[in-house]
Amino acid sequence: MTHRRNTYRVNYLLVSAFIVVVIASFVLAAFLARDLTVTYVENEFASRKVEVLEYNIGPFNDFFHNRIPEISFYQGYLDSTGVSVYADSIFHAYPFVERVVFYDVSLSNERVDYGFSANDLVVYPKGVYQFSAGANGADLLPLVPKSGHLPLSLSDDFNNMAAKFAAFIERVDTTRALQDDDIFKVFYAVTPGKICYMNIPRRDDLKAYKELMYGRNSHEVVYEQDILTYFIDPQKLSLINIIPELYQRVQIQPLVYESIDTDPDLLTTETPLPGALADYKIYFSSSRTFLQSEINRRFLPVMAGVIAIYLLLAVIAYLIYRNLYVNERMFKLQYDFINNLTHEFKTPVSVIKIAGNNIRSAKQLSDPERVHYGRILDEEADKLNNLMNTLLSFTQIENKSIKIKREEVDLHEFCDKVLKASQFKYGDLTLRCKVDVKRTLYIDPVLLGSIFQNLIDNAYKYSKPANKVLDITLTQNKKQIVMRFADKGIGIAKKELMHIFKKFYRVQNQYNQQGSVGLGLAFCKELVNFMGGAISVESELGKGTIFTIVFPLD
Ligand code: ADP
Repeated sequence: MTHRRNTYRVNYLLVSAFIVVVIASFVLAAFLARDLTVTYVENEFASRKVEVLEYNIGPFNDFFHNRIPEISFYQGYLDSTGVSVYADSIFHAYPFVERVVFYDVSLSNERVDYGFSANDLVVYPKGVYQFSAGANGADLLPLVPKSGHLPLSLSDDFNNMAAKFAAFIERVDTTRALQDDDIFKVFYAVTPGKICYMNIPRRDDLKAYKELMYGRNSHEVVYEQDILTYFIDPQKLSLINIIPELYQRVQIQPLVYESIDTDPDLLTTETPLPGALADYKIYFSSSRTFLQSEINRRFLPVMAGVIAIYLLLAVIAYLIYRNLYVNERMFKLQYDFINNLTHEFKTPVSVIKIAGNNIRSAKQLSDPERVHYGRILDEEADKLNNLMNTLLSFTQIENKSIKIKREEVDLHEFCDKVLKASQFKYGDLTLRCKVDVKRTLYIDPVLLGSIFQNLIDNAYKYSKPANKVLDITLTQNKKQIVMRFADKGIGIAKKELMHIFKKFYRVQNQYNQQGSVGLGLAFCKELVNFMGGAISVESELGKGTIFTIVFPLD
């Protein structure tokens, strides 16, 4: 028989190249993931400052768009008491407003020797009041003495608003509604730190002012307008860091501020404040080590995803490999089986043929020769018969078509018989059988005999000629009968133990070259399981093997 030692050759170079490629691509993926996370976090550091700005500028926008225009509801008829209440509520709600100056303004065609005049129209402050955010609410400070002269710091704001307003009256088309653009340009004056606002008059009032300007009124009239100047301190804008994971420090600083910190590890960015806050900016700074922890926090889930993908790939690669390996192994098993089976059949057939030829060609046979040839023919026919029976029984047991004929078996008697038969079969086998069982076992004696026979055959086959020893011990515990077959043979390697009960599986060794098809143990296991028991094996290479069979008593 030609024996193929190994039909499956692992291409180690290919496997190593594959592993190297997988590891390299994994390292590359990890490196890229890290790099992208760093870039992403740094970009966020530079761009998300807008969110912080928008969030913190909210109260200022509310003040500018909602609270300032409230003044227009009073149509110029606000007095210092009314403004005091109003200013108080502003100081309370908006801490960044630190002062409000109220100009109670009159527009008239009478002769007044102060104020701003355009043609016949005179715009002059009737009274100017200043309100400051103080412990007891607003302070009322009348600023215009009877002379009507304003301190220089206040006259600027007044003159600017009055001049813009007079120019507007001159050009306004009173047949049309006011444009938003006009409203912002004329009635607001926004400079860093200050917002000036004049109440927006109705269209009828504008008409009246125009008539005043061009002297169309014969009698003297006086109209009222209100101008308020709000003094803003951007430093008092409450600042909340809504992205603390990116920005370590957030501050309001003057526009010209430059950090004196020269640490190269400090990352900074800034965004200017708008409108009346414009000479200040929000200044953001974080150290690299601080950002590092954010980078790590974001990198970990990305890395976990990369690892999960690679694990999945590894599992798929392993399954493909295992599939190929199993197919190869199946092919090898079938190949070996057919080889062995043919060999098993061929050997007795050729012996029978030789014996037949000898008998035919002999002129006459002596009695010893006749007995000799008879015995040979008998033995070889038995071998063929046994082989057929094993294959047949196996097929039957696999198809569950075998019938169990259970009966009460006295294990002492049973073992005696097996011992005698085996000693006759294997003269050089030291077979000891110890039975420590007090009751009978309800089992099929023929199938049990088959199991014993297979295990004895194996103990004989897989032991060196000088050391063919088998100890069979039968013991009983509360619920089970335990049968132990311990030999001192060649033993079985650990990695083979899980396979030896598989059909057609043979361990490669010099002892199973002949008469082994790899069915014996598979057959034993099927029989044992079929009768409700379990079989297990322990072994040590070079020392021996122990098969243990357990049958339940009930
Ligand atoms: P085989 O027909 O090859 O003996 P088995 O199914 O009986 O098939 O056994 C499977 C393999 O287990 C054998 O090839 C043999 O190498 C190993 N084996 C079985 N019994 C023993 C034993 N008592 N000692 C050492 N090896 C054994």
